[in-house]
Amino acid sequence: MNQNLYGRLAAGFPADRSRPCFRLPDGGLVSYGDLEAGAGRIARLLLAKGVMPDDRVAVQAPKSVAAVMLYLAVLKIGAIFLPLNTAYTEAELDYFIEDAEPRLVIRDADALAAEAAGLEPVVEVTARAPDDLASIIYTSGTTGRSKGAMLTHAALLDNGRALTALWGFTERDVLLHALPIFHVHGLFVALHCVFLSGASMVWLAKFDEAQVLAGLDQATVVMGVPTFYTRLLASLEFTPAKTAGVRLFISGSAPLLTSTFAEFEARTGQRILERYGMSEAVIITSNPLDGERLAGSVGYPLPGVELRIEGGETGVIQIRGPSVFKGYWRNPAKTAEDFTADGWFITGDVGRQDADGRVWISGRAKDLIISGGYNVYPKEIEMLLDELDGVVESAVIGLPHPDFGEAVVAVIIGQGDEAAVIAKARESLAAFKTPKRVIWVDELPRNAMGKVQKNLLRQAYAGTFQ
Ligand code: AMP
Repeated sequence: MNQNLYGRLAAGFPADRSRPCFRLPDGGLVSYGDLEAGAGRIARLLLAKGVMPDDRVAVQAPKSVAAVMLYLAVLKIGAIFLPLNTAYTEAELDYFIEDAEPRLVIRDADALAAEAAGLEPVVEVTARAPDDLASIIYTSGTTGRSKGAMLTHAALLDNGRALTALWGFTERDVLLHALPIFHVHGLFVALHCVFLSGASMVWLAKFDEAQVLAGLDQATVVMGVPTFYTRLLASLEFTPAKTAGVRLFISGSAPLLTSTFAEFEARTGQRILERYGMSEAVIITSNPLDGERLAGSVGYPLPGVELRIEGGETGVIQIRGPSVFKGYWRNPAKTAEDFTADGWFITGDVGRQDADGRVWISGRAKDLIISGGYNVYPKEIEMLLDELDGVVESAVIGLPHPDFGEAVVAVIIGQGDEAAVIAKARESLAAFKTPKRVIWVDELPRNAMGKVQKNLLRQAYAGTFQ
């Protein structure tokens, strides 16, 4: 049987193809029939341009309906979809093109759709085996060069199906989609839940506060990164009435502060459902739809996902399961490095699993601080600092220090007295964990998914003790 992901997604489209898939801010609708036909026409154009099965099609294009049609068209003809962050510069793009050797590089999906307008849609779906590649996702590459994670048709289908069931998606759902589509969150997690259940989306080009607030009136589910929720909470217009029709708020791609979770519940009466994932395995764990969602925990491993902690109680999370990627594109050395001899993927995230099976993440292994020979997990200190008066959010990093090797430093959004913060922290923390310095800032550097870029902080303040 043909295992092409396109066919499986299309099997989830509503039988009545006139039903809407995209709900646009101007009130316009794009039906599933239009999506299917558009993808079919673009597929025809790609074939005419010589794209063959297993060819890479690189796409660095603004978010649009046509870009989604293009994604589906690439799948349909058995080629490999390679999305690229719209923020990448020409020089950065050169690296990806050299590494992936795409048959085509597309910068404007709307122009492509216009070029395909008069063509006969491709109906046939190219046969694919479960293990064939559907997509290559380049990791954000905060250490060294970005690597291409190879994701198969079966991996993406399995994860999409698991999430659709876990989060209870149905044809009646309306997802508020304000995420970028060059990343697994907005591309696979969000779109596949919608397609597999035949739901529809409020389709926003980006997180625009006014558009999001207006979109909430139609939405039943919201998927966001933590900064979406902090921005909403900062708005006086974000009231309980605004969220009355929304049955589920989901957060991921970066840690959700417990203060955001609590403030959100106090404001709306709803608990954000936090889940954990990464480019190499899409979604790995999730809090439950029914059952308790706990602040600070990313929930339970998805059905079929095996999870273990390297070493003691807290350590690097390793996983095995149907959605784990096949390896890094043309990089067997790095692939071998990131898998154990018995086939577990080493996520690079540090965490623990409690007796109940819930997973708690304390940060990236590369952000672990070793001060005077002791391991310091930044998350433990950040949680404590975030509770202090005057602290909006903190990022704890290790900086080179002549005595300690690395010294603990807190970079904090907010205003206050350095000595007072240090004294307060010392009341609950061992001396080696207590920040040696506090640096007050207005903003923390974040990537497109809202993740704090600690590597940039380490660079910026590298000379603090030298
Ligand atoms: P990416 O491959 O760009 O999606 O980044 C994946 C990384 O994001 C993971 O390895 C985690 O470090 C982080 N991440 C994703 N979701 C969460 C979460 N809910 N809590 C903490 N970290 C997260």
